[in-house]
Amino acid sequence: MKLIFERSVSGRGTRYLPDCDVPVTELDSRFLREKAPALPEISENDLCRHYTELEKRAYGVNDGPYPLGSCTMKYNPKVNEAMAALPGFADVHPLQPAHTAAGCLEVLTQTAKYLCEITGMDAMTLTPAAGAHGELTGMMLIRRYHEQRGEKDVRRKVIVPDSSHGTNPATAAMNGLEVVSIPSTPEGLVDLAALAAAVGPDTAGLMLTNPNTLGLFDPHVEEITRIVHEAGGLCYYDGANLNPIMGVVRPGDMGFDCVHLNLHKTFSTPHGGGGPGAGAVGCKAFLAPYLPAPFSAADPEAPEIPAESIGAVKAFAGNFLVIVRALTYLKTLGAAGVRESAQGAVLNANYLKALLADTYEMAQPGYCMHEFVMTLEREKQEKGFTAMEIAKGLLDEGVHPPTMYFPLIVHEALMAEPTETESPESIEALAEAFLRVYRAAEADPEGAHHWPKSTVIGRPDEVEAARHPVVRYVPAQEGTQEA
Ligand SMILES: *Cc1c(COP(=O)(O)O)cnc(C)c1O
Repeated sequence: MKLIFERSVSGRGTRYLPDCDVPVTELDSRFLREKAPALPEISENDLCRHYTELEKRAYGVNDGPYPLGSCTMKYNPKVNEAMAALPGFADVHPLQPAHTAAGCLEVLTQTAKYLCEITGMDAMTLTPAAGAHGELTGMMLIRRYHEQRGEKDVRRKVIVPDSSHGTNPATAAMNGLEVVSIPSTPEGLVDLAALAAAVGPDTAGLMLTNPNTLGLFDPHVEEITRIVHEAGGLCYYDGANLNPIMGVVRPGDMGFDCVHLNLHKTFSTPHGGGGPGAGAVGCKAFLAPYLPAPFSAADPEAPEIPAESIGAVKAFAGNFLVIVRALTYLKTLGAAGVRESAQGAVLNANYLKALLADTYEMAQPGYCMHEFVMTLEREKQEKGFTAMEIAKGLLDEGVHPPTMYFPLIVHEALMAEPTETESPESIEALAEAFLRVYRAAEADPEGAHHWPKSTVIGRPDEVEAARHPVVRYVPAQEGTQEA
């Protein structure tokens, strides 16, 4: 397929704008580029075909199941898009006087209120732009709390179980705190003895992903928060995957002081491909004075940054249209629907797990929450194929593969999350694809190393792609200086 720059023909498709009929203003040369940018020149017809061709090569939730564990790639109702496109929401300017945007402020206030209710928290900021950004914000609240109590330099350690999401230790480190990793039990849960041994007067807090990256809800969660609180630390809940528990149990009731949610996973904003997200952060009342300012949903017009606030974490009110989608989703579902959606996520994951369990070895037996992890370690040792071959084979089945090689505590891991929006028939078809690929790999492990056969590229050099990504087209005349 040609790049759009390679389709460019000088002078083509550039005359859509009428001649200028107002006086031309000369800009200060300081603000002008020396050379015109190398933009593609292309007719409208060719432009449409270019994007249609690209679209056919992409795979999304509208194409079929997308069981990417930890990512909750569920179907996003189209009514959310219709609401986000309303001119009153889409065209609002962040510097508009607040009284002219009362409807938008009401969206923020209502969303914060619902999310407080769902999480069992007292206050909520909607400004962070992603899950990891929410974690950063939440841990800044916790750090500020210790600072206010004169313990900033003492309480420097954050306990992170090894079944946590990778962003948790990264967040603690970004906050200048020391990460203490504690191992999981053979059942994949927090080792209470190891936790009790790790806490002390230097504990700033705990970051817990629950359900954890093995798809397990820790049944000792109240014991966990008690141990940390007794040592004077605070408890942070990574609620990016609230999908299986919303409307059923609440982090606030489990003893957590602070939580972030991924509105772009659980609350149904399309994501993947790097679109905008929202990592709402909720906290108990005693942390609320530290929430980001100047904008807060509680008092959008408050002019001053309160002295105790951690300050701004993002401009204005965050990714507002993501919040509009989340509110639409919540209003469509209602309280009973929120709970039912969580139950569906758990049911579907367990159905898929049961259909695969005779063939694929599970990292943990028994029931899971919204996702489960398989291990291909035995196949790697004994049969000559790995998690990679299964994932590549699924591409030839026209299915998006599950998350690969994550969590790190499971060798040859494949982590599948079917989500609640797949029908039983769709889950059965997905399971059949998984089983067909397994049998084909078993029959011809050598051939499996050359999968996929049906995609534009098959096995890119992933290390090279991660270390030296080429994300920008460099026109020939620009040379290589910016490659
Ligand atoms: C996705 C995820 C995150 C990070 O969210 P981003 O929006 O990608 O920054 C954090 N924790 C868990 C458990 C997640 O699944």
